[in-house]
Formats: sequence, C-alpha cells, structure tokens
Amino acid sequence: MICPVCAGTDLIHCLTIPRVPVLCNVLFPDRESARAAPTGTLDLRFCPGCGHLHNAAFDPKTLAYSADYENSLHHSPRFQDYTQTLAAALHARHRLDGKRVAEIASGQGDFLRELAEISGCHGIGFDPAYRGPAGEHGRVEVIPEPYSDHQARREADLILCRHALEHIAQPAAFVRMVRRAIGDRSTAVYFEVPDARFTLRDLGVWDLIYEHCGYFTRESLTRVFREAGFRVDAVEGAFGGQFLGLHGRAASPRSQAPHLASPEDQDLAGLGELVRAFRRAYASKVAHWESELSELARSGRQAVVWGAGSKGVSLVNTLTDFGAIAALVDINPVKQGRFVPGTGHPVVAPADLAAIRPDRVLVLNPQYRDEIAAQLQGLGVRAEVLVDEAP
Ligand SMILES: [Zn+2]
Repeated sequence: MICPVCAGTDLIHCLTIPRVPVLCNVLFPDRESARAAPTGTLDLRFCPGCGHLHNAAFDPKTLAYSADYENSLHHSPRFQDYTQTLAAALHARHRLDGKRVAEIASGQGDFLRELAEISGCHGIGFDPAYRGPAGEHGRVEVIPEPYSDHQARREADLILCRHALEHIAQPAAFVRMVRRAIGDRSTAVYFEVPDARFTLRDLGVWDLIYEHCGYFTRESLTRVFREAGFRVDAVEGAFGGQFLGLHGRAASPRSQAPHLASPEDQDLAGLGELVRAFRRAYASKVAHWESELSELARSGRQAVVWGAGSKGVSLVNTLTDFGAIAALVDINPVKQGRFVPGTGHPVVAPADLAAIRPDRVLVLNPQYRDEIAAQLQGLGVRAEVLVDEAP
C-alpha cells in the first residue's frame, strides 16, 4: 500500500466500510435496481509522512463519469455567494481582464462564466460531463474532454481546478501532468478541495464517500504541488473552513522550492491525533446505532432517517442490521418516491410520516434538530428524535 501523494508505505489504517454505494447521491426508481447499484469498499488510510488520507480500496474503473453525473451545488444561494466572492478574489489577485483562464473539470462552465463576467477574462473549460452546445459562447468555451497533456498548446495565464483532485486516484501524477503541460511558462494555478482536517475535527464520519478517493490536508496539498514543481504562495481555508484553496505558480527548475512544507505550516502529529479520535468516534457511532436499531427491531418498532443526502445514505449502508429503518425522509420532491442505492430504502416526503408512524426519527445533523422536531409536531407525528452527536 502506497500513499498517492508522497509514496510513503508506512500507512495507518483508519477505518473500513465494506459495502458503500459508489455514487451515493444517485437515487433509483425502484427497490431492485437500487439494491443492484454498484458498491465498493472504503478502506481509509492515513499517511503520517505527508498528512494525506486515501481510500486504499478505491477502484477508478467502478466510476464512469459521464453526462448523467450531476454534483453541481450551483443552485444553492449560499454556494453562489461563495463562488462570487471567490471569482472577485481571483480577479483581484491576478488582474484577469483580457487574460486566458483554463478550468479543469469545469462542469457546465458556470464558474468560468461568472469569472468572465466579473473580470473580463476569456475562459476555456474541460469536462467530459459537459452537456451544452459546442463552440464559444460569449467569452467561455467548454471542451467536452478530460484535461490532458495535449491541452498544453492552449496557453493559459491561470489554471483552475475545483473539487476534482479528491476524485483522482493518482493526484501526484495528475499535478505533474499539469506542470508538464505548462512547460516553461509561469502560469498561475488555483486548486480547491475539501479540507480533510475539517471532516476529522467535525467527526463527520458519514461524510466519507466512495467518489472521494483522496482526502487532502493543508500539508498533503502543499506537498503535492511543491513536488510537482510549483511554488505554493498560499493555502487558504474557504467556505467556512470546509475547503482548502491553493494558490501557486509554475516554478522554474532553477528556483525550485524545497520539497517539504516549512515546519511552521505542518502539524502532522496533531493530524495523527485527529485521525485516532476519528477512528474511535466512528467505532462508537456505529456501535451506538447498531444497538439502538437492533433494540427497536426486537421490540417490533421502527425508525426513519431524516435526510436522503450522503450522510443518510452512508449511515444505512454502514449498519449491518438496518431492518428497523422503514424509510429515509427528504423535503426535496425530486428525491421522494425514489430508492437508496445499496440498501434499497424508500425515500418519502415528511407528510408520509403520518401513515408510517415511526417510533424514532434519526437526525444526523444536530443543527436541524429543532427544525425537524417542529415539523414532526406540525405533522402530528409523535416520534422520539434521536440525534447523531459527538460521542
Ligand atoms: Zn504520504
């Protein structure tokens, strides 16, 4: 087993979840197809040498990204605020008017268009999942292909890549490829990923998903870029600390930065401690819910899980005995009437709870406890609310 960032071999086992859906945000039209959904193993390993976590059982062949893959958060107002702020910050840093910006994994080009509008740059995106018309529209063009070496001929002043590196099994090789494509130009880069330290601190054990094979920390993200031949100017927290954004620039071979992050930027021992606490939290949460649910099943009662997002889907797929869970409840009408990959649980509307009459409602995000309790009261559902809290 080899760390995909630093090639270290002394990795620490963090946790194993044997049968997780490979795409946990895709719901199915019937129970049979949901149960037949492809699953994979999550075998999370921590590298104490560089601070990276990765799923050692990840198999890229199980995930075929295509035009039906949809993970855009662009419709959420909070996310729109964030992307606008980011576009303005990138323009302030790089003075992008009239410059060329390339975006790797640009999706439908939403962010590039936003950036072009704010800054006056020309944008070119690369994404095999692009569904729009070919050609340039306004200042932005999206090529429906993955970014690769042969895009090197398309010169760019800034290369962006947001929320893609954590999906790539060999991120170090990928970043080296980007560096080769830049050649002897001094192109700037901005790469954004989820911050694994946030998940570890927050004990977000249900937030680990198969699509994310890599979990970057400030330490491992910095290392990947320095070793590939980039100067790292800043690694900043973003989106309430949930993301990391790396600002860098292709370094000339002569001015090559030292390979390791400077000691003041690193806290590998602290990360190791967070990993151990996370492992304990995971074991105790699983044990807690297993015993709650088998107790319910024994007494012939049932529960529902509030929320059919990645947390709810991860929870039901982690439990060995999920018979006491009747359904997952979701306020999103698009999800209602569909079925959860792996376990095949139905997704119902809150109004359906009056007929299901659950004895317990499991709430996985403590922030929604009061809101959900009020909705249950409004529906006349007298279930006990159980909240997934830090052990
Ligand atoms: Zn490593």
